[in-house]
Amino acid sequence: MIHSLRFRLLVAFTLVILVTVGAIYLFVSQTTRHEFRRYGERSEQVRFGRVGFELMHHYREYGSWEGIQPYVEQWGSLYGHRIIVTDSSGIVVADSQVELLGQQYHPDTRGMPLSPPWEENATGTFYISPDPAKDFPSPMSLSQAIGHFLLWGALLAIAIALIFTFFISRRISAPVKAVTNAAQRLGQGDLSQRVQTKEKGEIGELANTFNSMAANLERSEQLRRNMIADTAHELRTPLSNLNGYLEAIRDGLVKADESTIRSLNEEASLLSQLVDELQELSLAEAGELKLNCHVENINKIVTQAAAMRQELADAKGISLKIELTDISPQANIDSRRIIQLLLNLIDNSIRHTPDGGTITIATKKFDERIEISVGDTGEGIPAEDLPNVFERFYRVDKSRTRATGGTGLGLTIAKRIVEAHGGEIQVQSELGKGSSFAFSLPITTESQ
Ligand code: ADP
Repeated sequence: MIHSLRFRLLVAFTLVILVTVGAIYLFVSQTTRHEFRRYGERSEQVRFGRVGFELMHHYREYGSWEGIQPYVEQWGSLYGHRIIVTDSSGIVVADSQVELLGQQYHPDTRGMPLSPPWEENATGTFYISPDPAKDFPSPMSLSQAIGHFLLWGALLAIAIALIFTFFISRRISAPVKAVTNAAQRLGQGDLSQRVQTKEKGEIGELANTFNSMAANLERSEQLRRNMIADTAHELRTPLSNLNGYLEAIRDGLVKADESTIRSLNEEASLLSQLVDELQELSLAEAGELKLNCHVENINKIVTQAAAMRQELADAKGISLKIELTDISPQANIDSRRIIQLLLNLIDNSIRHTPDGGTITIATKKFDERIEISVGDTGEGIPAEDLPNVFERFYRVDKSRTRATGGTGLGLTIAKRIVEAHGGEIQVQSELGKGSSFAFSLPITTESQ
């Protein structure tokens, strides 16, 4: 509850309201008090002067204070002040509240002497002081009234904030809740979870990030499943071949002679090759292909790989041509893996090129890259198969057996090796005319 969005919003709103109202109260009450005091002082002076003038006027007219009491009472109630008039000996001759009439007055405030211009001595003194009995608004009571008004205003604002909080928090928390629920279901294994939201800003971004994370998870899970299914499928055939041979030998249908054993051996080697390649692929796909890189002369590496397959090509009557760029391109590569990939491409070309054909291995420099290509005059690859040749277990001729074809992983691994070196691999092919696989690597330095 304390950590809920609704509660936090409410606390924030309430704080803002209280601080604002408090600040307004302080400001308004200070100003009112100040202004009120100034006004009070000024009007008091005016009253003072007027009462003094009237008193002296009376004295001048009657020559004594007689008959002044009713006027003083009248002024007292009119101005809301207590007015006391004493004669020159300090005896109260008029009191707006009557109480002290005829008594000796002991003032606690300074009075104003009444000295008409024709008299030498003061004929009396008058005192004027606020009358507590009169309920005139004082600066204090006014600021209290403002305080009450603001307090009610604040309470009303908090009540409105409560309603606002309810709606705003619902609006904010609904999409967050949707993401939370989807994340929970995703955590329980339902990878198809997506958040439907039209929200923009941070919450929309959260939902989009969640959706792309879920899509990535789903894709990887799909890839993992496909990988397992493909692997099981690929392992099944050589295993059942092996099984079939062994059962036939057991039932006496096939003799365990040299050729049978050679067939069994071939199936077993293919299985172990498949397992090795799968392991390599899984490392590459997890981005854990360890490269032992050194700066190497690419022309030298290409020549070395071609030499390793010269014999095989000769045996098939295929001419192996090498066309190297004049410069000696240096690249930071794992030579073992680049040779492995070149051998793979040359093997594929030899396998798919008829006798008398030509395989050309070339190096060419483009900007800061060196392109290495293996082209043949072989059977070519149908256009519809071209985009798929780098896919795992993809074989153009589906009926091709393991004896004639490879594992279907060679080009996939080749692509991963090139990518791990920061390069790209591409294929061009025309059915019946030949194929060309080319990959590029970043050049480090050049030397003649
Ligand atoms: P495999 O081990 O079966 O050769 P690859 O991944 O190396 O698997 O190749 C995938 C498919 O691409 C092969 O089955 C083959 O049909 C086709 N292919 C590869 N290289 C060539 C080539 N030089 N000429 C024609 N087809 C090729």
